[in-house]
Amino acid sequence: MRDVIVAANWKMHTTPADAGDLARTIAARTRGEGVVRVICPPFVALAAVRDALAETDPDVGIGAQNVHHELQGAYTGEVSAPMLAGLAGWVIVGHSERRRDAAETDEIIGRKVARAIEAGLRPILCVGEQLGEREAGEQVDVVRRQLTGALTGNDGTALRAAGLVIAYEPVWAIGTGRNASGQDAAAMADAIRTIVADGWADAAPGLSVLYGGSVTSANIAEFLTEPSIDGALVGGASLKPDEMAGIVARAGLTAAARGAAA
Ligand code: PEP
Repeated sequence: MRDVIVAANWKMHTTPADAGDLARTIAARTRGEGVVRVICPPFVALAAVRDALAETDPDVGIGAQNVHHELQGAYTGEVSAPMLAGLAGWVIVGHSERRRDAAETDEIIGRKVARAIEAGLRPILCVGEQLGEREAGEQVDVVRRQLTGALTGNDGTALRAAGLVIAYEPVWAIGTGRNASGQDAAAMADAIRTIVADGWADAAPGLSVLYGGSVTSANIAEFLTEPSIDGALVGGASLKPDEMAGIVARAGLTAAARGAAA
């Protein structure tokens, strides 16, 4: 059975002074739903979130929002995978905002996946097309190119053992309030599974595919009624405890239904 996951990407929000309280509140509002919950605060707030959750809800996973593709060296301002030991168990790689702002290529993203796996971090690899690419009907080709670029050189068995997660995040839906339809997102989740099965067969069974892009408590059901979608990567709404409570509660229904059917 595939994990049902709700991952919160806090982006460049919160400080070490307030992140612990927010994590505690979200943890308390989302407990007991049978959903894998992950909170990804900024690097500087990882320790505060870790300490807050250790006291209140150690079941909540903690993720970094990025990791460097080298282990160490002259990379001012960067954070390597070994540095995250004891701070995070998960890491987001290839987020479209980093592809856009830090010019991350698929090849670099693939090396980040490899460094994450070596360090025992569970990677959430983000893929997704731009609006023009969707309008041209190129979304599957784009995602195939991104997956191939990032996963070539990574071994299917290792990806599976690491619990690779893929987040389908159409760029035009991120932070815009304009979400993909459940049907379109499900078609992309199916395409992603096929691409992974073709190239990394060992990684395909058990692969959780999330949808991300303006997910809220009001639209999460549209995605989670689709059997091929296993949860959500949530940005803006993940800073609001009421929203997270609603999103995780709906994900809990999916987790319970899958458990009953298994
Ligand atoms: C994200 O940051 O991955 C994201 C999907 O953001 P938002 O939910 O705000 O669109």
